[in-house]
Amino acid sequence: MSRIAYVNGRYLPFRDATVHVEDRGYQFADAVYEVCEVRAGRLVDERRHIERLKRSLGELRIRMPMSQAALGVVLREVVARNRIAYGLVYLQISRGVARRDPAFPTPPVAPNVVVTARSLNMARNEALAAKGIAVVSVPDNRWGRVDIKTVGLLPNVLARQAAIDKGARDAWLVDKDGKVTEAASSNAWIVTSDGKLVTRHADHAILRGITRSVVLDIVKDRNLAIEERAFTLEDAYAAHEAFETSATQIVMPVISIDNHVIGDGTPGPVATALRRQFHRHAELG
Ligand code: PLP
Repeated sequence: MSRIAYVNGRYLPFRDATVHVEDRGYQFADAVYEVCEVRAGRLVDERRHIERLKRSLGELRIRMPMSQAALGVVLREVVARNRIAYGLVYLQISRGVARRDPAFPTPPVAPNVVVTARSLNMARNEALAAKGIAVVSVPDNRWGRVDIKTVGLLPNVLARQAAIDKGARDAWLVDKDGKVTEAASSNAWIVTSDGKLVTRHADHAILRGITRSVVLDIVKDRNLAIEERAFTLEDAYAAHEAFETSATQIVMPVISIDNHVIGDGTPGPVATALRRQFHRHAELG
């Protein structure tokens, strides 16, 4: 079965699903995106993802290309046409197509909207989570507004590749003060030796992960000790547990950081419990 993508009002086979060479997303990374998990063919936390999308668009002064309801229909249609039971749906909106010039086009052009979806291997993801992953630290050299979910991800690309080149699975990004910001495409968490959960506060230096916010709800619901604050790499090395959160990984235990074994080198009880409880707290659309 050929994969189907939505491109500006049309559902097209992948080979025909193209955007113009002067799309500003392509030329300037002048575009935002969202990734939603799909479970049993349904969107997980659609409402929060669309809220964040609207915020990203607003920060960049790109207009929402269609109503929220219409966008929901498109996302569902792409999931259905690609027969995704478990996987992800990807949405990208660029400022549109215009003669190459950094300034916003005048008059404004229509945003370009692309939606794709693909299946993920649940057994493989569960096996990975049961084992936990190794990460390495790399300097966080991204721009100052990574709370906006733009497609400008080159530092994240290089960080992830640096991790793979070192035999690790992911990279944790460290700012100039030695504090961990987040991972290359997920939020970073630790559990301290006195049992406190710590994740960086949501400033302009991290993406406000939707998974992060659902995990915060679980943590509050269960009255677990939580501190939203910056933590150092040394704090992370000494942690009882470490894990990262994202829409496609949910809660992924981290068992080593820069070859420092975390805890006993296996996924810890807090991360494992949060992973198990996650979908009871997320919204299924
Ligand atoms: N941080 C970064 C840099 C990301 O790219 C992502 C997801 O793509 C996240 C955090 C996690 O966000 P979410 O939980 O909404 O998937």
